[in-house]
Amino acid sequence: GYWYGGEGLVLYMALILPATLAVARLYSASEAHLDARDGVTGFVLKKAAVQRLDQHLLKEKVSGMASAVLVLGVDDFMALEQQYGTTASNEVLRQVSERLASTMRTDDLVARLDDHEFAVVLAPMRRSDLETLIQISARIQKTLSDPYSIDASSTYLSVSIGFCTTSRLPARDGSTMLECAESAYKCAQSNGAGSIRAFSPETKRVARAREELATEVAAALNTGQIVPWFQPQISTDTGAITGLEALARWDHPSRGLVAPVDFLPAMEQQNLMERLSEVMLSQSLSALREWQSDGLNIPSVSVNFSSAELRNPMICEKIRWELDRFNLAPGNLCVEILENVVASAEDDVINRNIAALADIGCKIDLDDFGTGHAAIASIRRFAINRIKIDRSFVTRVDKDRDQQSMITAILTMAERLQLETLAEGVETIGEHAMMAQLGCGYVQGFSIARPMPASDVVAWVEAHTSKTAIAPKIGKWAS
Ligand code: C2E
Ligand code: CA
Ligand code: CA
Repeated sequence: GYWYGGEGLVLYMALILPATLAVARLYSASEAHLDARDGVTGFVLKKAAVQRLDQHLLKEKVSGMASAVLVLGVDDFMALEQQYGTTASNEVLRQVSERLASTMRTDDLVARLDDHEFAVVLAPMRRSDLETLIQISARIQKTLSDPYSIDASSTYLSVSIGFCTTSRLPARDGSTMLECAESAYKCAQSNGAGSIRAFSPETKRVARAREELATEVAAALNTGQIVPWFQPQISTDTGAITGLEALARWDHPSRGLVAPVDFLPAMEQQNLMERLSEVMLSQSLSALREWQSDGLNIPSVSVNFSSAELRNPMICEKIRWELDRFNLAPGNLCVEILENVVASAEDDVINRNIAALADIGCKIDLDDFGTGHAAIASIRRFAINRIKIDRSFVTRVDKDRDQQSMITAILTMAERLQLETLAEGVETIGEHAMMAQLGCGYVQGFSIARPMPASDVVAWVEAHTSKTAIAPKIGKWAS
């Protein structure tokens, strides 16, 4: 270069040429990155989704057609992984991805995100409004709700979905749009299994508040900010109080009362569910001890246990010890177990623990009955005393014939299996009367009382007792 072209050529060879080559290599590496695929599902990754959204946003002004992005994930995937292991749960994820791909149009793009989530970038449409997106989400949920084969048996899954349309974007770029759909998804997820949420500026605020709460939740358990509130359960026969369900509330120093939906997901993620039930159990038993000492007739408290603590081989010992500590009998405690825990429990530990708890005399309620696909056989196998019929069957039971048929079928089954029945979420006098008439043994819900702090229980029980002493009986026993 020096002999033939002088300084300019030297400079070119030494600096500009290598720089050009480096830029070209970088560019082709990032292109290759867009083609990178997930090993389990074969889908492209997040970067490709962002790039596709960027392209759609650019074209939107010219074509007048708008895109949208959905983020979705399998509810409780961690529990599935814990139960079946990584290989089997990856197989489920593969089945999910297959169904997802087959339900979308060929010009939509499905990508795999981190944490077992998927993004669906929709090809631009003439109408990408709320209604259309909810319809698409519901269609996806339906396709994914059929049973999955796993380890030679079948299991049901639900998915939560969050989406974002271009009309509500805070900034017009693909990565912001995906981020917004992700926070809508987080919002849906914490709202309960199978939820759908659209992004709005409010979503971001809620998501941020939840993240803040998540960092404080462990400390809250240790400083006594998580307390049980109590909701009465009464007999449809006599109107007498038969028990109180303990429901967790966070008495937050600056935010006020926080409901379980806003902190349970964070507790689950941080493996705090066992600690939660310890706190709830000892506080509930201590409260019951006091009420009974005051001469109140409250036969039992019900405490919710999740699968994490039911897997603890020491749980029976722990509960027995706590009962002794408060000088209470095992029959003073009712253990609430979600139907889906029993449904998925090939797990021997859970099975043995439930049997052991029943053996020592604790009562066992099967919670959310009707939502968890528990086989009748497993209900017989587990030592369950009572099913809690989920609110979804109870709503409008006095007005809706289909609801009545469902409830009648459930009650007949329960009678054959010699199980007692409690209806949850009884909101009106009409529903209460109809459940009593159809032969359901116990009711719980807003029409009887909302959950209340321990300090309100004495006054409520006294008022209720004096009311039932004079009130006429309703239901099948009234005559
Ligand atoms: P769940 O066990 O099914 O509890 C019943 C939920 O329905 C409670 O919500 C209660 O406040 C609400 N509810 C009661 N009556 C009515 C009614 O008439 N209408 C309507 N619409 N709702 C009614 P909450 O307290 O927000 O608890 C939600 C869920 O959080 C519970 O559902 C339970 O699964 C979970 N949870 C609450 N406390 C605990 C706990 O200490 N441990 C565990 N593992 N889970 C808990
Ligand atoms: Ca419950
Ligand atoms: Ca329930």
